[in-house]
Parts: sequence; structure tokens; C-alpha cells
Amino acid sequence: MTNERYQNLSESREEFAAMCAVLDALTAEEKGRRAASIRAMPYPTFLQTDYWRIIRAYVLSMRAYKCFRCGSQIRIELHHTSYVHHGTEHEHLEDLELACGACHRFVHAVDLMAKGKLLKHPEEQEADKKVRYRARMQEVWRSERFTNADY
Ligand SMILES: [Zn+2]
Ligand SMILES: [Zn+2]
Repeated sequence: MTNERYQNLSESREEFAAMCAVLDALTAEEKGRRAASIRAMPYPTFLQTDYWRIIRAYVLSMRAYKCFRCGSQIRIELHHTSYVHHGTEHEHLEDLELACGACHRFVHAVDLMAKGKLLKHPEEQEADKKVRYRARMQEVWRSERFTNADY
């Protein structure tokens, strides 16, 4: 870690602590309204807020600009492992991960695949269609068999 990074760490830590002190002093109602307004923002607008800039600088320097997967320190981005606490990220730094560009794209691709949203190879899509068709036909066949009064 360079001296510049040590300096960044203490500066960003101070800035983060100061912001948390201000946010902690809000009433529960104010906290709720504040978080709701952040959640209502278009995401690119959120990325431009001081709130995110301060969190980002702090998490980057605290974790030494290191990708959580491969340890690279090149093109490090912040990744939300969950958006459940969107708007109160400062209280849930565990939801944020540092990832290099390549690993970031990888974790999102895995995520999409898990949700079944990643486009599959046309042959795979075709196979999926056949499986779905067979399942539907079996359902029809079963319902006909068992709801038919004559059976
Ligand atoms: Zn990486
Ligand atoms: Zn991400």
C-alpha cells in the first residue's frame, strides 16, 4: 500500500464516520424517508450522490482496492451482493464487494444464470422447449385421465 493510499484511508474513514454521525442523528421517520428517496432514484443518479461517493471511497480504501475473487487491484468496482439494504448501505457494508471488471461481469453472469435469465445457446433453448412441451403434455394427459368421469 502506498502512502497515498494510507492517506486516502484515513481521509475516507473520517468522511465516512462524519456522514454516519449525521445519518445516525436522524429520527426513525427521517431515516425512513431518506432511504426511500434513495431507493426511488434512478440508479445512475444514485451513483452520483455524495452518499455513494463517500461509501465507495471508504470501502475501496478499507479493502485495499483488492478484488474479492482474484486479488487484482486493476479497475476495481463496487458490487452489491444484495439490494435489500439499498439506501442504508452505510449500515450494511457487508453487502458490498470489491471486484475487478472481469470478476464483476463474472459474478453478474452467474447471478443471471442462477435466475435462469442468461441467454442460452440456441440448441439448449430448443432442448428446454422440448422438455417444457413434454411436461405440458404429461399434465394434459394426467388431467384428462383423472378428471374424466368415464374413467
Ligand atoms: Zn477479479
Ligand atoms: Zn455488481
